[in-house]
Amino acid sequence: MGLAATGAMPKILASQSSEVDVIVVGAGIAGLRAAQTLLSAGRTVQVLEAANRIGGRAFTDNTTLGQPFDLGCSWVNADSNPFLDISKDQGAEILRHSGAGEALFVGNRRANNTERAAYYRAWGAIERSFEKAGEAELDIPSSDIVPEGLEFGATVQTWIGPMDHSVDFEDLSVLDYWEAAEGDPSYIVRDGLGTVVSRWGANVPVSLNTSVTGVNWGSDGVTVSTDSGALKAKACIITVPTGVLNSGAIAFSPALPDRAQGAIANLPMGLLTKVGLQFDGSRFSFVPNQWLTHHVPGDVPGEACFFLTWPFEFDYSVGFLGGAFGWDMARQGDAATIDFALTKFVEMAGSDARKHFVRGTVSGWANDMNTQGAYAAARPGHYDSHDLLAEPIEDKLFFAGEAVAGPYAALCSGAYYSGEAQAKAALGVLKG
Ligand SMILES: Cc1cc2nc3c(=O)[nH]c(=O)nc-3n(C[C@H](O)[C@H](O)[C@H](O)COP(=O)(O)OP(=O)(O)OC[C@H]3O[C@@H](n4cnc5c(N)ncnc54)[C@H](O)[C@@H]3O)c2cc1C
Repeated sequence: MGLAATGAMPKILASQSSEVDVIVVGAGIAGLRAAQTLLSAGRTVQVLEAANRIGGRAFTDNTTLGQPFDLGCSWVNADSNPFLDISKDQGAEILRHSGAGEALFVGNRRANNTERAAYYRAWGAIERSFEKAGEAELDIPSSDIVPEGLEFGATVQTWIGPMDHSVDFEDLSVLDYWEAAEGDPSYIVRDGLGTVVSRWGANVPVSLNTSVTGVNWGSDGVTVSTDSGALKAKACIITVPTGVLNSGAIAFSPALPDRAQGAIANLPMGLLTKVGLQFDGSRFSFVPNQWLTHHVPGDVPGEACFFLTWPFEFDYSVGFLGGAFGWDMARQGDAATIDFALTKFVEMAGSDARKHFVRGTVSGWANDMNTQGAYAAARPGHYDSHDLLAEPIEDKLFFAGEAVAGPYAALCSGAYYSGEAQAKAALGVLKG
């Protein structure tokens, strides 16, 4: 895929004073795919990106740990995920990660067989509750359907809520879980999925360091204001995260219709934070590419950090924390977040592990003004917001991105599909 494969040559950017067919706001996966689709159809496009790089939430940090560390997406869930083929076409080393082993801990010891059985029973009971409520299409908080009294109930809820959907069960609609596309098989990429995305999108002309501050769609066409001037187009595709939309960083004039405003408000960002913990090569009996889970006391997701150990045999493990606790840690700062993750890791690895710790790093999406969270989750009762926000506004404004990707919401594949779909919708209404 990519422009080279489609045979379309990217158009030279229009000068800032002339009108283009479409302005695309944001150069994450959705924006890049929208631009590719429009350019392939011979349209003029201006992509405006606030950051100094493309990729958005697909970003691999190669510097901090001296090895590829994906700060955002890293799993390619291959239910028709275009990035599986894109990775293969690039010759990237990929690893099938479905069915990875899992070490389960209770405090500082490995769970015994009875505890493991209780853990699997909790998974079964909670999944059956989702099946029943999902088939009944109940758009209600997942906390309303959880069976009580499960010994490992909070541990399973932590996986499904904060870790997978970036929100706790009380903020997770049953339908966001139930309607989500099948995640298996899943793969990880040695160079990092962010690296794959940056290679794939490299041919798209993008104006970096250009923050959009306003979108005027009242008159003929659309005028987009940036911190370095205004631009005019026939249509505009907006791919910024709902965190940015909800912050009011982009002023719409006239105000967006109630339907769109309501949908944005009902698609707030959840939080998943990744914490890279680098060690000196010691493994502490944990094998590469394995999950490391600990018992979470209580009935609801609490203070937890689960891990992926030594991906691709790198010398770091990735801690994951999210939901309300993730936001709380983000407010406390990177040092406190690393300290919490390291404390959890050492509890399971043994106190000796602290001596072998080299450095930590935090993904930091909560405090990134261009994102303001990890990905969107519909407020319970408002699952239809994903579709409502995807509806074009007066054939001029088109919202794209993971938040409007239906069953692929929150995924890199969803961002790709929604960027392509909204570009096709714009092509359908462009005249001349
Ligand atoms: C921690 C984490 C882990 C994840 N793990 C996975 C995973 O394993 N698998 C998976 O499939 N998905 C995963 N995701 C989700 C995936 O990364 C996203 O769904 C996808 O990258 C979103 O792409 P997008 O184009 O919709 O948005 P973005 O990538 O956010 O792109 C939007 C762009 O808009 C720019 N922007 C913002 N404000 C402005 C402005 N005012 N003016 C101009 N530009 C602006 C931003 O800088 C950004 O580049 C993860 C995400 C996170 C945060």
